[in-house]
Amino acid sequence: MVFEAYDNSGVLLLRRTYFSIEGGFVVSGEGLQTTRSARPTNEKNVPYPFATATEMLSMAEQSGLSIAAMKRAKELAFQSEQSLNKGLDQLWETMNDCINRGLAHEGILPGGLKVKRRASKIGERLKAEKAQNSVGPMHANDWLSVFAMAVNEENAAGGRVVTAPTNGAAGVVPAVMRYLDYLHNEVGVDERRMFLLTSAAVGGVIKHNASISGAEVGCQGEVGSASAMAVAGAAAVLGGTPAQIGNAAEIALEHHLGMTCDSVAGLVQVPCIERNAFGAVKAMTAASLALRGDGTHFVRLDACIETMRQTGNDMSEKYKETGLGGLAVNVPEC
Ligand code: SF4
Repeated sequence: MVFEAYDNSGVLLLRRTYFSIEGGFVVSGEGLQTTRSARPTNEKNVPYPFATATEMLSMAEQSGLSIAAMKRAKELAFQSEQSLNKGLDQLWETMNDCINRGLAHEGILPGGLKVKRRASKIGERLKAEKAQNSVGPMHANDWLSVFAMAVNEENAAGGRVVTAPTNGAAGVVPAVMRYLDYLHNEVGVDERRMFLLTSAAVGGVIKHNASISGAEVGCQGEVGSASAMAVAGAAAVLGGTPAQIGNAAEIALEHHLGMTCDSVAGLVQVPCIERNAFGAVKAMTAASLALRGDGTHFVRLDACIETMRQTGNDMSEKYKETGLGGLAVNVPEC
C-alpha cells in the first residue's frame, strides 16, 4: 500500500510504501530489505528443513526429537537462544494480557453493528462458580470459549492481540494455552515455549502448503489453522508423541474444512468472535481423541492441508472476506 501526502498546491511531500508480508505483519520498503537480509541466504543451513507434515514427522522419528525441539533448532539458525526464549515469553505475556483485558472490559464493540462484549460477564460468572467448586457439565467449553472470546472482543475493539495465525483467528491459541494453564496447571515456562514452538511448526506447514488467509481460502484457513496450531501445542504439552500431535492437528483442521468467511459488515465480530470459541473447543476435542490413540490415523495431515487448499480454490469468492455471501448478506446490519 502506498501512502502519499500532498500540500495544498498538489506537491508531493512524502511517499511511503508498506508491504503486507502475511501473518499480520506489515513492513516498510526498508523493513522488507532488512527482513530479507536477516534470512540466511542458504536455506540448507537450517536444520530439519521440513516443508510438509510427513517430512516433519519422519524427521522427528529419525532424530528422536520432539516437534518443538526441531522447531527450536530451526529458529536458532536465525537468532540466539536468549532472543528466541525472550520472544516466546513475550508472545505468551501479550496473549495473556489480551485475555485479561478482554475479561475486564464490557460495552458495545465499535463499527456500528452494536455487538455487545460478553466475555467479561461470562468470565465473572465462571469465576464465581469456580470459587464455589461448582463445576457444571459445560465447564471446559465455557472456559475455552470465554478466553477465546475475550481475545476476539479485544481484536474487534482495536486492542492489542498476537496474530496467531491471523488477527481474526487470534483467540484460539491463547484460549487453549490459558485453559491448560489456568485450569490444569500444565503450563510452566518450558511448556509455554514448547506449546508455541509446536504450534508455529504446524502453522508453518499449513501456510507453506495451503494458506492461513480467509481472503484466499475462507475461514477454514484462519480459524481452522488456528485450531490445528492450538491442538498441536496442547497435545505436545499433554505428552503427545509427534505422531499424536500430527493426528490431533489433522482432526482439528479436518473438522473446519469448507468453512467460509462471511463476516457481517466486514467487521471481525460476527461470526468471528464465537467462531474462535468453537475453534478452541474443537482443538481440545481433537486433543482428547488423538491422545487416546496411538498416532496412526486414516487421513494424513498433509492430505487434509491439501484438501483445504483445493476447497479454498473452488470456493466462491463470495465467501472469502468479501462480505458478499453467507451471514454477511442474511443478517440485517442494524
Ligand atoms: S469469518 Fe472471516 S474475518 Fe471472521 S475469523 Fe473467519 S476468516 Fe476471519
